[in-house]
Amino acid sequence: MSAHAATEPGRLVIVGASLAGVRAARAARHAGHTGTIILIGAEEHLPYDRPPLSKTFLTHSSDHPAAHEPDEQAHPPAPAVLMAEDELRDDLGVDLRLGVTATGLDTDSRELLLHDQQRLPYDRLIIATGATARRWPTTTHLAGLHYLRTLDDARALRAALARTTNLVIIGAGFIGSEVAATATQHGIHATIVETQDTPLAHAVGQTAGTALARLHTQAGTTLKCGVQVTDFSGTGHIEQVHLSDGSVLPADTVLVGIGAVPTTGWLTDSGVALDDGVACDPYLATSAPGVYAAGDLARFPHPRREGTLRLEHWTAAAEQGAHAARNAITTAAPTRYEPVPYVWSDWYSHRIQIIGDPHTDQPSTLIGDPDTGQFTVLYRHNNHITAALAVNQPRAIAKLRRLITQKAPWADALTQTTTLNPPATPPAGSRTESRAT
Ligand SMILES: Cc1cc2nc3c(=O)[nH]c(=O)nc-3n(C[C@H](O)[C@H](O)[C@H](O)COP(=O)(O)OP(=O)(O)OC[C@H]3O[C@@H](n4cnc5c(N)ncnc54)[C@H](O)[C@@H]3O)c2cc1C
Repeated sequence: MSAHAATEPGRLVIVGASLAGVRAARAARHAGHTGTIILIGAEEHLPYDRPPLSKTFLTHSSDHPAAHEPDEQAHPPAPAVLMAEDELRDDLGVDLRLGVTATGLDTDSRELLLHDQQRLPYDRLIIATGATARRWPTTTHLAGLHYLRTLDDARALRAALARTTNLVIIGAGFIGSEVAATATQHGIHATIVETQDTPLAHAVGQTAGTALARLHTQAGTTLKCGVQVTDFSGTGHIEQVHLSDGSVLPADTVLVGIGAVPTTGWLTDSGVALDDGVACDPYLATSAPGVYAAGDLARFPHPRREGTLRLEHWTAAAEQGAHAARNAITTAAPTRYEPVPYVWSDWYSHRIQIIGDPHTDQPSTLIGDPDTGQFTVLYRHNNHITAALAVNQPRAIAKLRRLITQKAPWADALTQTTTLNPPATPPAGSRTESRAT
């Protein structure tokens, strides 16, 4: 049977013109969908890639960003687009509608409600509205408080960094850490304030969190853990950040990096089941007929254990967009989405890669010496390996992925990883710690 014969014609509407949405449009066409594809995006910009926004985009080559500031007001820096406009519109025949916001969904009549009161009918719908930066809980009238999720956010932060001597970042998550690294590398004094005692402990555990923290302190970024920001002060603009331990940090710019929230507000009365994201079955189908979800907001059954999973990573959004589209348009049996999650993050000159799901109640094991900038942390569930975090080991990742996919016995995984990355001390000295999930 040809791919075309296996697909259902009709109107596919995709809400959210970013990574998951663009990958959904492309996969639907490549899988032989001959009907209309409409891609709706709230932002005015062509779909762009977000990872560079916390890294190279914030600065210009090795110069301090200030050197480029006047130019940038007239010609703001361009992002990396996910797909050229003519490829999207002409080659894939996608009806791309930018600057259009979905405000609701009528799942009985199968219509999407738009900000201008229009109703857009669909046969199949993919929800890919991603996530939004979590806001700081109190308001301040002072200027200088930034978030980083969108291109507009990144342009504003970039312009602010050009005038910044002291940057305070609230939250030692991946985005806060990447911005701290970029700023420190460009001579800005960056301080990260984190409420937890160990950065990223909730995401990667105590062992890995402690080892990752070393990367900051070695590079000259100040890390203040176990304290909270209580207030901002200044005249018109933030000049000081006040902490719960009584200390006061000088600040020209503050970045709030306290996580992201799934963009599901517009679905509240739609009847689509929500659960800290959009609740999906293993096929990425939602509770509403013909409606699928993909990307940062999709919550799906954990492929390897009890419970559900929602991933806020580039690879997951790309894979899920394509997967949801294929299941949405096919008349053949749908396929389950059962990923081995993958995420990377770049801090200073270090590449951090995480493969698998590191959430576990069992001890994780550190192999290698964090002070050398090259180490691995392995995670287990019962007697097999479930995840690995590797720093500066691009060649090890394929092997680790194989071990995790095959659910290799823990002892084998440990032996094989130790040969990849010999510990500075004998294996008996390798540190193990358990962590709360
Ligand atoms: C600064 C930054 C750096 C990152 N770095 C990395 C990295 O190094 N490694 C990694 O693995 N991941 C990284 N990520 C995560 C990765 O970029 C995301 O997982 C990915 O962008 C998610 O794609 P998405 O399509 O699900 O959602 P999003 O990219 O959030 O896109 C959702 C889109 O939907 C639109 N939208 C929202 N509501 C509506 C509505 N009602 N109507 C119409 N449109 C709407 C939004 O405007 C947005 O364009 C980073 C993210 C950020 C923000």
